[in-house]
Amino acid sequence: MAMMSRAEYLASLDDGRRIFAEGEEIKDLAEHPQFAQAVKLVGDGYEQHYKSGDDASGDYFRIPHSKDELREIIDELLHWDMVTVTTSQGLLALLTAAARMRKDLPEHAERIEKYFEYCRVNDLRCVQAITDAKGDRRLSPGKQEDPDVYTRIVERRPDGIVVRGAKLHISSASISHELVVMPTKNMKEGEEDYAVACAIPVNAPGVKIVNTSYAPRERIEDFPASSQHNMPEGFIILDDVFVPNERIFLAGEVKHSATFAHSLGLWERLGGTAHMAEFGDTLVGLAELIAEANGTEKIHHIREKIAEMVIYATLTRAGLEAAIANAEPTAEGWYFPSELFTNAAKHYAASEYSLMVRHVHDIGGGSIVTAPSIADLENDEVGPYIEKYMATKEGISGEYRTRLFHAIRDFTADAYGGWQQVTMIQSGGGLFAQRLVARKHYDMDKAKKLALDLAGLA
Ligand SMILES: Cc1cc2nc3c(=O)[nH]c(=O)nc-3n(C[C@H](O)[C@H](O)[C@H](O)COP(=O)(O)OP(=O)(O)OC[C@H]3O[C@@H](n4cnc5c(N)ncnc54)[C@H](O)[C@@H]3O)c2cc1C
Repeated sequence: MAMMSRAEYLASLDDGRRIFAEGEEIKDLAEHPQFAQAVKLVGDGYEQHYKSGDDASGDYFRIPHSKDELREIIDELLHWDMVTVTTSQGLLALLTAAARMRKDLPEHAERIEKYFEYCRVNDLRCVQAITDAKGDRRLSPGKQEDPDVYTRIVERRPDGIVVRGAKLHISSASISHELVVMPTKNMKEGEEDYAVACAIPVNAPGVKIVNTSYAPRERIEDFPASSQHNMPEGFIILDDVFVPNERIFLAGEVKHSATFAHSLGLWERLGGTAHMAEFGDTLVGLAELIAEANGTEKIHHIREKIAEMVIYATLTRAGLEAAIANAEPTAEGWYFPSELFTNAAKHYAASEYSLMVRHVHDIGGGSIVTAPSIADLENDEVGPYIEKYMATKEGISGEYRTRLFHAIRDFTADAYGGWQQVTMIQSGGGLFAQRLVARKHYDMDKAKKLALDLAGLA
């Protein structure tokens, strides 16, 4: 098989998949306002990476065999569309899970490797479907009123299994090809039916995806960020979906139920930290530009806030660098990032992000949410007044400053901004999950020894 072109990708979406949004089933994703830009971005990604020849495959299927290769992949993924990113991260996570369970489940590890090859050779895009509906959070899967709130096996057949459940918040699922389903948490003995990991094509019978999106419906000039970068979020319903044996990676082996979530968490948090390092710099840039436009850039408290933002952006990047520099080799000879540095950096960047947004809002002023639209700026009667009163000084026109405010509102304070704030905290499994993993991998004995030495108690 060869790589897919943009046209082939667009054609591949017309495969009978069941996609819903705003109360209706959507047939032509490329034409629908909620999906069109996202489909275009993924199509651009196919175009950007396309190489001819039957043996060609995308760089996003690269497996890092050294720390330098890992750094190259992380640098590159900042220039990929989100679906290409989730494909790379998700498949690397699957391979990490395979490496971690090969000793106990060699056949499953081999199936994962074959599946990786299948995706590479067919140039497919994958998403990771982990998060279940989860019902009452205090109760384990088996104790829930409705047994389907955690995805489970409802039938075992000689040729495969049938799964039922729902996977929530799955970004870009509707415009990808493959759903990589994994358990959302550790399952205990007696919960074997919930320990299920497998790969399901998006168009498999029984799959339905309900979507939400922050894609702007109004004039795109007022939404410079979200009109360009938006992806649908998928609420995936798995209504008794058959999965053949070769696509099953776990079906009852509770010992490895958490292996997948931990492996994915690692790669997703590394990618998240890389994006937050970029976003940190972007927030610094927005704060400095609006301060300059307002004439406040030399005022003491404004400088202080921007300095704090500079520290945030730099420390986030430092955490990312440390995660790569401390990457560890697998028995297979490839590298995965440091658990400790990845989780600590992701936690720091995510938990402080809202403070950085607060600084931008504090520095920018109320026009972040009240600046007139670009359409009003273009109106013959009121436009000149908007230009006059939004201008501040020589070199800062009303239009420039208005557009800057729209960028800040869109990126931090409107639908996309709100989405970012929640996503920073929850993506990759929420802050608590990162604290748990960081603590597990931290060298507590060394810390205690230092303390005992200090106290003269060693
Ligand atoms: C934009 C976006 C994109 C996402 N993309 C994906 C994706 O592609 N694939 C995917 O699988 N998931 C994805 N997620 C899901 C994300 O991983 C979850 O939102 C996250 O793990 C939290 O789960 P939840 O939303 O069900 O909230 P909850 O589990 O209800 O958590 C809410 C809070 O309650 C706490 N809590 C819940 N249960 C317990 C408990 N038993 N004990 C102690 N504390 C508890 C949590 O720590 C958290 O603080 C995405 C989320 C967002 C917002």
